[in-house]
Amino acid sequence: MGDEGVRATRRAVLRRAGLVAAGAGLGAAAFAEAAEVTDRKLPVRGGAAGAAMVEAHRPGTGELLVTWAVETDRKLIALTFDDGPRPEWTTMVLDTLARFGAPATFFMVGRRARRYASVVRGRMGRHEVANHSWDHRDLARTDADRARADLTRAHDAIEQATGQHPRLLRPPYGHVGGGAVLAAAELGYRVVLWSLQMRESHFPGDPAGQARDIVDKTRPGTILLAHDVGPTDRLVGLRGLPDMIEGLRGRGYEFVTVSDLIAAKGSRA
Ligand SMILES: [Zn+2]
Repeated sequence: MGDEGVRATRRAVLRRAGLVAAGAGLGAAAFAEAAEVTDRKLPVRGGAAGAAMVEAHRPGTGELLVTWAVETDRKLIALTFDDGPRPEWTTMVLDTLARFGAPATFFMVGRRARRYASVVRGRMGRHEVANHSWDHRDLARTDADRARADLTRAHDAIEQATGQHPRLLRPPYGHVGGGAVLAAAELGYRVVLWSLQMRESHFPGDPAGQARDIVDKTRPGTILLAHDVGPTDRLVGLRGLPDMIEGLRGRGYEFVTVSDLIAAKGSRA
């Protein structure tokens, strides 16, 4: 951006801050306030943005991998469910998956895993269980200490409810800040986001339509986001699961857990 561009941007910011109207009378105090709007710096270390590993509690593996999808020619898809468990909804999903013999990955909220442990206990054998934070706090707004405490608490609750050791983290909202990055690395997690998601609000009362949309958009290595908790309109996605599974299998797709999909990276059809 050239000088003129910078000046134009500053004018726009000042206008939004209601300071341009003051014109020539713009005082030093007002300018300082405007400067804070435009130039506020994030702390170099710590805070929600800092990810520098200065004094790691545990260095983890010394790296953090982030996965949206997996590169492969094989028709593999990882179906993922966020925010559960929840009575009835999660049970319905587990029943459907059992009927079709399809594995999935459940990114659980720790608080819910503790509260509704009976919903998932003994039922996660073929499925993968992963961490979706303790109570769905936005981890992009927390520093590393709080993110670490949050994720550890969730990890323990999910482990107790399911008997599995989560190795994957999906931060709520797909928001990633420095504090979460640092905590995830220290705890040895891999961050898993998604490359396709159900859009239930586009298919009100039309499970078959939602299923067709997913079948049409799935590509080899897709990680699909669904939810087994939420507003009632999300039931469209869950009710469409049988159609979706049959549709994808009809096109030659195989359902795998996220970790199995990652293990298949680079594999050829
Ligand atoms: Zn979520």
